[in-house]
Amino acid sequence: MPSHDVLIIGAGLAGQRAALAAAQAGASVAIVSKVHPVRSHSVAAAGGINAALNPEDTWESHAFDTVKGSDYLGDQDAIEIMCREAPDEVLYLEHLGVTFHRNESGHLGTRAFGGASAARTYYVADITGHAILHVLYEQLMKHHERVDRYEEWFTTDLLQDDAGRCVGAICRNLRDGHLEIFNAKTTIHASGGCGQVYEPTTNGLIVTGDGIAQAYRIGARLMDMEMVQYHPTTLAGNGLLITEGARGEGAWLLNAKGERFMEKYAPNKLELASRDVVSRAEQTEIDEGRGYPDGTVALDVTKVPRRRTLEALREIVNIGRDFAGVDITREPIHIRPGQHYIMGGIKTDVDGQTTIPGLYAAGEVACVSVHGGNRLGANSLLDTLVFGRRSGDHAAGRAREMTMPSTPAARVADAEREIAGIMRRDGRGRRIGAIKHELGAVMNEYVAVFRDADGLAKAHEAVRRLKEEASRAGIDDQGSVFNQDVIAAIELGYMLDVAETIVVAAQERTESRGAQFRTDFPKRDDGQWLKHIDISVNGADVPLVSYSPVTITRWQPEERTY
Ligand SMILES: Cc1cc2nc3c(=O)[nH]c(=O)nc-3n(C[C@H](O)[C@H](O)[C@H](O)COP(=O)(O)OP(=O)(O)OC[C@H]3O[C@@H](n4cnc5c(N)ncnc54)[C@H](O)[C@@H]3O)c2cc1C
Repeated sequence: MPSHDVLIIGAGLAGQRAALAAAQAGASVAIVSKVHPVRSHSVAAAGGINAALNPEDTWESHAFDTVKGSDYLGDQDAIEIMCREAPDEVLYLEHLGVTFHRNESGHLGTRAFGGASAARTYYVADITGHAILHVLYEQLMKHHERVDRYEEWFTTDLLQDDAGRCVGAICRNLRDGHLEIFNAKTTIHASGGCGQVYEPTTNGLIVTGDGIAQAYRIGARLMDMEMVQYHPTTLAGNGLLITEGARGEGAWLLNAKGERFMEKYAPNKLELASRDVVSRAEQTEIDEGRGYPDGTVALDVTKVPRRRTLEALREIVNIGRDFAGVDITREPIHIRPGQHYIMGGIKTDVDGQTTIPGLYAAGEVACVSVHGGNRLGANSLLDTLVFGRRSGDHAAGRAREMTMPSTPAARVADAEREIAGIMRRDGRGRRIGAIKHELGAVMNEYVAVFRDADGLAKAHEAVRRLKEEASRAGIDDQGSVFNQDVIAAIELGYMLDVAETIVVAAQERTESRGAQFRTDFPKRDDGQWLKHIDISVNGADVPLVSYSPVTITRWQPEERTY
């Protein structure tokens, strides 16, 4: 049985940064990932990472932009920490070997991003996540004496002792299907977001909300689950992302009449208003008949000098050519808002501790909450790194004070029985893919940019029905080697749990704030709703709602205009 001071589930940026910090603090670390670490979804991050590093910029300005971007739902103590620690984190990466862009004078160069009052996004062309992930992975290999990597291992369940403390997890080796208990003094969930709950999404097929559901199932509180970000520039058919870096470099948004419509919605920041504002503006243009027949508006990257596009945005030149048949250096490309990110997740404090003793969370799976109602572009990579590091540090420190807990070995037999039960299902149930497709379509119709009570009720009803159907969904593969059928069945269960918490939280919040726009409650209501919605599971497998206060340190809520 593998036993470690710190078990980290997930090897994206949050997990790898946590592993590095824990190893440097002297802990023995296991890092588990269902895919090879450098295939974690962080590899897709394109546009960059925010930090107030220029002498003319200040961390306070970054923090205020983040608070305003969050529509005042972000916790300001956590935001202050993130923005204060950002410059050191970026310099640390640079010293490790991340080749951030440099300007003509040889200094680190920035690009503008949405909702920011200064250009403070540091980047590596439009492959920033790729560049950072590979450098961190090299560091993990360098620390091989302290860090054991379990690549292509899938965590199925978190484990608790009799006192309710998290003492590790059960993981399945995908290569041969065998299950093992991973014993740990502390466990950090760093397993990413849940984009696949929606269809289409900018997120890859592996982003299925496993960690949110696993923590929820053992009683951890979730927070801000209603806050799901729709990114303004995604391709219509497949949801592929056109990075905000394009607008940062000067691209315009146009409706089908050729009007630069952001002049109406955000006269000061235009295309660089925050994402919730731009996505709503686009959806309004489309809904009111000023979009294209394919339900899109256009992004005009020809406003950016061609040479600069080819140098700084080469990945989206490829995406435009390969997935839309458009040369974005010569003609506008059709885009629309698409699911991209969840601001909510497992509720944590600023050291990553969740409401379950021994369990930490960091990265997109977690909700600290630094993003509140709406995340600013390029603040997620920062969140993964700052709070990944803080979680790794804290978990290692806590582990130093503990003896290795004993883990109930019988739990493997339970997990084996569950998997055998999935394999024994007859083929008469609906296909897993069909259920997942319906879930994604329902969420994209009713729990998207605009929401109302009627649509949310339909979504909730559909999710409950799909949960029933999922428990009978048939699988074809009875083997043990890379059985993706079994994994898909387990992931579908996670996605449905996560979907239900999103819908219930969106039903609860009867106001409009950040990414939650209720057409039946179109105003922000600070009197009643300047608070977080927390979700936990009650005994009957139904989400239970409670509230927690928003931490305000120095910025009182104001009207939010761009
Ligand atoms: C296309 C795209 C572009 C983006 N661009 C930017 C950007 O420019 N700037 C920015 O700030 N943000 C950006 N984001 C957001 C940002 O990339 C993500 O929020 C962030 O990278 C998430 O990192 P993470 O470490 O939390 O999770 P991930 O990188 O998703 O890693 C999750 C890890 O958990 C593992 N895992 C999951 N479930 C299990 C399980 N059951 N068992 C074992 N392992 C498991 C996975 O294998 C993986 O290793 C972008 C997002 C997308 C989709």
